[in-house]
Amino acid sequence: MSTFQAPKGTYDLIPPASATYLAVREALAAPLRRAGYGYVETPGFEHTELFARGVGESTDIVTKEMFTLTTKGGTELALRPEGTASVLRSALENSLHKLGNLPVKLWYSGSYYRYERPQKGRYRHFSQVGAEAIGAEDPALDAELIILAVDAYKSLGLRNFRLLLNSLGDKECRPAYRAALQDFLRALDLDDETRRRIEINPLRVLDDKRAEVQKQLTGAPLMRDHLCEACKAYHEQVRELLTAAGVAFEDDDKLVRGLDYYTRTTFEFVHDGLGSQSAVGGGGRYDGLSEMIGGPALPSVGWALGVDRTVLALEAEGVELELPAATQVYAVPLGEEARRTLFSLVTELRREGVAADFAFGGKGLKNAMKSANRSGARFALVAGERDLAGGVVQLKDLESGEQSPVALDAVVAELGRRLG
Ligand code: ATP
Ligand code: MG
Repeated sequence: MSTFQAPKGTYDLIPPASATYLAVREALAAPLRRAGYGYVETPGFEHTELFARGVGESTDIVTKEMFTLTTKGGTELALRPEGTASVLRSALENSLHKLGNLPVKLWYSGSYYRYERPQKGRYRHFSQVGAEAIGAEDPALDAELIILAVDAYKSLGLRNFRLLLNSLGDKECRPAYRAALQDFLRALDLDDETRRRIEINPLRVLDDKRAEVQKQLTGAPLMRDHLCEACKAYHEQVRELLTAAGVAFEDDDKLVRGLDYYTRTTFEFVHDGLGSQSAVGGGGRYDGLSEMIGGPALPSVGWALGVDRTVLALEAEGVELELPAATQVYAVPLGEEARRTLFSLVTELRREGVAADFAFGGKGLKNAMKSANRSGARFALVAGERDLAGGVVQLKDLESGEQSPVALDAVVAELGRRLG
């Protein structure tokens, strides 16, 4: 072991498990790519102020969870804790919304950083695949994104996830609801920090996970009863479109989510096999965010799915992904001449699209065959001086153990045929 260990709350992705992780990332993004979303990549850090304004001064993310740094030049930066603020910043900065083709649909995938108390499913470095549809107010767009996430989870073979759905209202109806909720909350027996929260972001108190708080919330005014006609109709359309697409959901009046920028449609995907870190993804509409970071009015909707927790959800359900073999053919040379010949063959096979590997380091036959078996290859190519003198190599089927000589100039074609 080296003197060093990975920092607290982080872990390394190493083979073979890393292959699953990559496949999950790809599967989560695949439905987006078929639905007109273009790839966007933003820096791993941004000006701290972007998150303070964009995510919200009252959120856990901004008050407790950001990794911040001051550059030598005195600039305040933060490692990105989430994707939406950065992606919207980028869309505005690059004037994507002015190209006359709204909504601007973008997807992303990468690392995010939060200074959290590490536990299973909660890390300081984790990975998300996300999507944002910027500049359109249309219930079909909210439904589209939710359906794409459901299809992504299903394509992986996940079954035990649930979709929680709520509407948080808009600038017409939310203020009156907020005031009613504050009145209700101020009368409860709560600690000082929660009391402060009532004044800054009372909706978030509904999301408090503590039983002694939840107990007191029975009878709290609900957004549902305060939605204006426009929000009600909008939400009803989202629900109808989901139902028509065969997507099951649960109405959850207390779902508010941890970010300040959400309006109207809000949703979360939870998985029941993950214990307390049950959220595998979430998102919603954020009609006011663009203006909050200095842009024009651009009603938008998006989501982010956690890759780490999706991998854990697959494990919890015992789903094993069918991954392409890392190695299909493994070459075992016996002697100098065979090394040169088989090395060329391996290069040729790779150029033909076959996953091929080679016994490096001058291993003896026994060790090399062990490596061949460990590699998971279906076939081994073995050759010594006598084989080469006869113009052949031995082609061994590592499943059946059968071995037969194949002419050197026919090996690539023969393997192509056998591997289909
Ligand atoms: P939680 O309530 O569990 O803290 P969150 O509301 O903070 O989740 P979001 O900001 O909505 O999470 O991020 C979207 C997804 O990213 C989450 O549903 C989760 O799957 C994943 N995620 C968030 N924080 C972490 C973390 N610290 N470690 C691993 N995955 C995370
Ligand atoms: Mg969180």
